[in-house]
Amino acid sequence: MSHLKQTDPELFKILGKEESREHNTLELIASENFVSYSVLEAAGGVMTNKYAEGYPGKRYYGGCEHVDEAENLARERAKKLFNAEYVNVQPHSGSQANMAALMTFVKVGDTIMGLDLAHGGHLTHGSPVNFSGRLYNVISYQVGKETGRVDFYNLMKLAKEHRPKLIICGGSAYPRFIEFEQFRQVADEVGAFLMADIAHPSGLVATGIHPSPMPYCDVVTTTTHKTLRGPRGGMIMMGKDPENPWGKVAPKSGRVKNISELIDSMVMPGIQGGPLMHIIAAKAVAFGEALKPEFKEYTKAIVKNAKTMAEEFISLDYHLISGGTDTHVMLIDLTNKNITGKAAENALEKAGITVNKNMVPFDQRSPFITSGIRIGTPAITTRGMGVAEMRKIVKLIDSVINDHENEALIGNVKNSVQDLCNSFPLYDELRD
Ligand SMILES: *Cc1c(COP(=O)(O)O)cnc(C)c1O
Repeated sequence: MSHLKQTDPELFKILGKEESREHNTLELIASENFVSYSVLEAAGGVMTNKYAEGYPGKRYYGGCEHVDEAENLARERAKKLFNAEYVNVQPHSGSQANMAALMTFVKVGDTIMGLDLAHGGHLTHGSPVNFSGRLYNVISYQVGKETGRVDFYNLMKLAKEHRPKLIICGGSAYPRFIEFEQFRQVADEVGAFLMADIAHPSGLVATGIHPSPMPYCDVVTTTTHKTLRGPRGGMIMMGKDPENPWGKVAPKSGRVKNISELIDSMVMPGIQGGPLMHIIAAKAVAFGEALKPEFKEYTKAIVKNAKTMAEEFISLDYHLISGGTDTHVMLIDLTNKNITGKAAENALEKAGITVNKNMVPFDQRSPFITSGIRIGTPAITTRGMGVAEMRKIVKLIDSVINDHENEALIGNVKNSVQDLCNSFPLYDELRD
């Protein structure tokens, strides 16, 4: 980075501040992670220069022989990781992946179903402020008040009543395994497509810790930057028989022969132009890392850390939605602690602990205030923290939440956070 230091000291300084923020805080946002230095290198590499509209072997531009190699490598590694027969690694983000997948399987005005945002769903699963809510007729399903898990009785009832063309399963704040098999039963009952969005648990899916959607879902989307620990981006996959997925979708034009081609054409030229080849190269690197045995150990540690935190929180009388977690994420309802999600987020931030406020199911408060916080372990597990640190961190969080206006206490917690961060340094490679 010494070059940037000379040519643009202003931006260099900003980057330096972000580096030290990442080093000096405890990152508990469940959707965040720290990529390896190798991924960082590929993402900052020369492939950012290349225009490569199209797909390997079929580009609109010359000079694509090496980006073709990178994209093919990313695809092959992704297929192996997820046991997929078809992969598109070009979506710029998870939202783009969802848009392309939805536009492949349903037409504007069709009915789709997704998990309610306040119950753990994602904006792209039908929120009125998102393209998905604007283009489609959305029927949201919810979790049960007592169980905190998807209410399949109600989902089936709604599906029979509204006959959706497509059902989306998965979410952003769902602490339990996604119940692909049960969703398939509902989809079959009403003749709907089933789309899994595994943006959050994809690293756990890749290592077999979370069940795989491939046997049950018509199409699977994911981000690459959450538990999968790759660069910021998205991906679309299909499992068995991508040539003819159950004969349910008629090709929309004579040139397109099958669903995988339809998805490819919906990503580009449908919703995107040139792919981010440097990011696709970085995806290849991340998928290579995820194929190694160490990555399974890593994802196991993520879940072990999350379960440890969950137990500690419960022992301190915190209310966890669904009573715990199967994954990397937990959703905590703070109502009994007399603090809003917003106030908790702010106080914890002052103490060097980053979490996000989050709606809880049946929340009485607005999305800007909320009654809960969401906590995840991928990033701190990447730093090497384990069970002992989890216990320590829960105690720190608890002390802030119980006395969130006590500046002296927050200062003390911040010191403990600093000690922890110093013991688990980030990006040694960047220090010169
Ligand atoms: C994070 C997330 C996305 C979107 O990812 P972006 O890359 O931020 O667009 C989509 N779906 C779910 C369930 C997510 O959690």
